[in-house]
Amino acid sequence: MFKLSKLLLILAVLLSVSCTKEESIEPQKNQAEQSLYPLINDFVIDSPQGILKHVSNKDFIWPNGSQITFSFKDGSSQEQAEFERAARQWMAHANIKFLFMDSFFTTDVVVEFKEDIDMGFGEAYLRSDFKKLTIWVGSKGFKSNSKEFHCAVKHEIGHLLGLFHEHQNPNANIPWNKQAVYNDLTSQGWTKEDVDIWILNKYPTSSSKIQYSAFDRNSIMCYVVPNKWTIGNYEIPQATTLSAMDKSEIEKIYPFGNKRNLYEFKINGKQVLTTDYYEFNESQFVRLAGRIRKEKVGNADPIYRYYNTITNENFLTSIPTEKKSGTGWVYKGIIGYNATGAEETSWPLWRFKYSQSYYYTFAPQNTDPNNEGIAFYLSN
Ligand SMILES: [Zn+2]
Repeated sequence: MFKLSKLLLILAVLLSVSCTKEESIEPQKNQAEQSLYPLINDFVIDSPQGILKHVSNKDFIWPNGSQITFSFKDGSSQEQAEFERAARQWMAHANIKFLFMDSFFTTDVVVEFKEDIDMGFGEAYLRSDFKKLTIWVGSKGFKSNSKEFHCAVKHEIGHLLGLFHEHQNPNANIPWNKQAVYNDLTSQGWTKEDVDIWILNKYPTSSSKIQYSAFDRNSIMCYVVPNKWTIGNYEIPQATTLSAMDKSEIEKIYPFGNKRNLYEFKINGKQVLTTDYYEFNESQFVRLAGRIRKEKVGNADPIYRYYNTITNENFLTSIPTEKKSGTGWVYKGIIGYNATGAEETSWPLWRFKYSQSYYYTFAPQNTDPNNEGIAFYLSN
């Protein structure tokens, strides 16, 4: 509960909701209800300082291009891996770099997994100074490999990036049966005011800091809305993936500009570089290798990519005559352009060939006879 006080204060100011009984905010849900509404409980975290998804608050937007460091205070390796996977899905659509570090380091965000959180799922505690952010993931009743776990983690990371709850978007048109919502949740320990603050009230349109778009009921930032909470046949099922608008709106907040992510995967032991995060299974992801230019600047050369669907060889070159053809080879097109020139930091990526595998690295190893030279240039 200690986490709530400051948030509530801000909430009270922003939403003009008076709430003096902070202790009463935490709903006491039973296990059965938790499984029905897994995302509801995260309300502790979000406050209007967070973001409105398509509602966002300028005070809680990180500088574009920020590198945000994370460490895990606890959690199983599987829980940690799931968290990183969810973070990467946001990173694929936002000009933000998430870096996961050992807990030995002081990081921007600390992730804690708490099996004994009865109130539910996840909480992201946002502060306007971006210091000592914590995301709590309560996994009681949820398996780390469950859909609910993954969805909730993605939702919390959305808050971390500055998004608020989409179901409270000023443009939301949910046909609430308010009395049904009150009845249902007050029987679980919520107060009527809690229900208003975290579910029914729309965010104010009067603040110049709040940005919002059209309502997106598919957003990962929506709570689950059961049919019995609405008038007529209307419900919002649990979102399982980032919606199309989640992706497009977060990119508006964190634009890539003339940059494109280049991802490294390991496919059957072979290093593969691609700009399409969804080309391979996420479990084979290795790292964000860097960025390349999305569009040509000056006389920069294109970067051509060929991929062998049988051997998983991955061939990248800036030399148009270096074509790959034959069994299994597929031309993937121009994936971007070299980052050269003085306008930004760039560095070469060298290509080596070992038997039937191409390997790309920043380390030149010029004396290695397998060094095929610079394949293309990356930018930061
Ligand atoms: Zn939330």
